[in-house]
Amino acid sequence: MGARKGIQYLQDLDNKPRELWLGGNKITRDISKHPQFRAVAKSIAHLYDMQNDSGLVEEMTYISPTSGERVGLSFLQPKTMEDLIKRRVMMKHWADYSGGMLGRTPDYLNSDLMAMASAWEFFNRKDQHFGDNLRKYYEYVRENDLCLTHTLIHPQANRAVGPSKQSDPFLAARVVEKNDQGIMIRGARMLATLPLADEILVFPSTVIRGTQDDMPYAFAFGIPCSTKGLKFICREPFAEESHFDHPLASRFDEQDAVVIFADVLVPWDRVFLLEDVEGANTLQEATSGIVFMTQQVIVKNIAKTEFVLGVTSLIADTIGITEFQHVQEKIAKIIIILESMKSFLRASEADAQMNQWGILTPDFKPLNVARNLYPRLFPQFRTIIQQLSASGMMALPSEEDMKNSEIRPSIDAYYQAKNTNSEERIRLFHLAWDIAGSSFGSRQELYERFFFGDPVRMAGALYNWYDKEPYKQRIREFLHQEEE
Ligand SMILES: Cc1cc2nc3c(=O)[nH]c(=O)nc-3n(C[C@H](O)[C@H](O)[C@H](O)COP(=O)(O)OP(=O)(O)OC[C@H]3O[C@@H](n4cnc5c(N)ncnc54)[C@H](O)[C@@H]3O)c2cc1C
Repeated sequence: MGARKGIQYLQDLDNKPRELWLGGNKITRDISKHPQFRAVAKSIAHLYDMQNDSGLVEEMTYISPTSGERVGLSFLQPKTMEDLIKRRVMMKHWADYSGGMLGRTPDYLNSDLMAMASAWEFFNRKDQHFGDNLRKYYEYVRENDLCLTHTLIHPQANRAVGPSKQSDPFLAARVVEKNDQGIMIRGARMLATLPLADEILVFPSTVIRGTQDDMPYAFAFGIPCSTKGLKFICREPFAEESHFDHPLASRFDEQDAVVIFADVLVPWDRVFLLEDVEGANTLQEATSGIVFMTQQVIVKNIAKTEFVLGVTSLIADTIGITEFQHVQEKIAKIIIILESMKSFLRASEADAQMNQWGILTPDFKPLNVARNLYPRLFPQFRTIIQQLSASGMMALPSEEDMKNSEIRPSIDAYYQAKNTNSEERIRLFHLAWDIAGSSFGSRQELYERFFFGDPVRMAGALYNWYDKEPYKQRIREFLHQEEE
């Protein structure tokens, strides 16, 4: 099929029944028409349409090595610097569409799957079929241009102990049975962003390490979100109707859901790793999956930071505060973060090397630092928007007020701005509120803090992974230098 069109994604979403729970209701079909899901479904469909846009097709797709059709560029297994840059350019187009507010654009997990498939032999550790399963799955996802979500974390019941030591051994999703057809999974995982994806990857955490006791919980597989027994319990939606009032929440509420496996059968050809704690602990690093996911995340962070820079700079112009030093200092901070993220990304490309599986892999050091920094920096953007906007974010007539001919003249008279009309000013501050104040904006902050893993344990992983020895040795030598 090759790079698919938005309409094909929407049709699949409507026709392949899944089990979404929202506000006490079970929703199975016509999800693209549901009031709480239709907006984000349309946004994902738009991403797919971008691939077929005549002006973008060259930058969004490449020729499949198997079918000869054009397929999404995030599936490209990079061999040259040009390939790496093509991947980055493609990802930036998708990230710019939502100002970085959509976390689960399909390139995020396509990148992980691409890297894992390049390292398919890694998966043959315990079973000679698993590597082939993964390679075929990657090709299936690429050729059908499927959208993936993933769930990596066990339920948050008692974090002092691992999944095998919880009071209920079936709290965290685990293998209950193996039979001729596949493995049966029972229990739960949290969290999966975008339960409107076609498929779900159920993989080990990128950060948390299991022990031998966790054997029944150590697996990796990918199945359709429509698989029997799979239930998604969605959080309260933040989707809003009016683009004028909620320019972001009205398009990009991608949803997050806890995933329940009520005796879900995973066919053998979809199993990639099983009862292999060491494999689960090393998978992401050994395959470079984490590197390619992080590359995508930093591209998204750049798009998001550029978006925030645009919003804050326009706020400053709009209400005439550009000359104040603290305003300049705050916007300069955003510029510093933006240029730092761009530098991390470019440095990772400049020092890219072939990995052991034969794909050109960005240097993980700058990417790893960038992914540790951003969760600490993004919350400052919301603070800066609040500090610059002040009560401007509360002076927000709604779309309905704007349509009302009786009050509209007053709005036009009293919501003036330094350099624009009342309507433009109000639109801008609604956008500011959607980032810095609304439920949608609060979720963005929580997302950036945690979606890639607990920042405390990510920092611990960086500490343990980073080679500090050369620097320690330099100090040892320094301490024993003769005084000159
Ligand atoms: C909006 C959003 C979207 C997400 N989307 C996805 C998704 O699509 N797929 C997915 O797999 N995951 C997703 N996640 C989950 C994400 O992976 C986790 O939030 C992250 O790994 C942290 O785990 P946790 O939320 O269970 O927090 P916990 O691990 O429960 O941590 C809670 C607190 O306890 C502390 N803590 C717990 N254990 C330890 C420890 N051993 N050492 C030190 N401190 C500890 C943490 O530092 C933190 O302060 C998402 C999260 C959010 C918020």
